Amino acid sequence: MTRIKVHDKYFVPFITETQISEKIAGLASLINRDYEGQNLLVLSVLNGSFIFTADLVRQLTIPAEVQFLRISTYGNTMESSENAREVWGLQNLTLKDRAVLIVEDIIDSGYTLSFLYDVLEKLQPASLTVATLLFKPAAFKGTHRPDYTGFEIPNAFVVGYGMDYAQQGRELKAIYQLSE
Ligand code: 5GP
Repeated sequence: MTRIKVHDKYFVPFITETQISEKIAGLASLINRDYEGQNLLVLSVLNGSFIFTADLVRQLTIPAEVQFLRISTYGNTMESSENAREVWGLQNLTLKDRAVLIVEDIIDSGYTLSFLYDVLEKLQPASLTVATLLFKPAAFKGTHRPDYTGFEIPNAFVVGYGMDYAQQGRELKAIYQLSE
């Protein structure tokens, strides 16, 4: 199996480019169906979601506005944390009465999403849903489960397709998991 090295760690192939693109086509058709006749506001959570967002929105046939948010976190590169956070990028956005879709790369503990969801809900969108490429159900401790999930995966640490290990590996076309 082709191992790759990112910083000091080895990763092995996990989800191929083809599997990702087929999955995204499926997710997009669900979103196109669910939001038919609406103007969708897509809120992409940086940095990890930038590639997923780019591929997902290019499969949408409904009108969509795309904006980017950043959530500041404090802590380690390979651990999710429950620490205090702040959302950047909402200053010039109006969510009130709009159909809003949060786009995440991966939901692990779900703490990041729960925090963001609560912040956005207070801005009174007409609807608020979540699309994530990857979801780790066994790690999930949050309050909001994703509405659109690409792949449910075990508790492995993954890189590629936008996701990093200490800021490296985002450019990989496929998704790799940490080798034992
Ligand atoms: P949560 O708050 O759901 O525990 O964590 C969400 C964030 O943690 C993701 O947006 C991502 O930045 C990071 N994260 C969680 N699991 C992984 C993983 O397996 N690989 C990478 N690269 N980041 C992850």
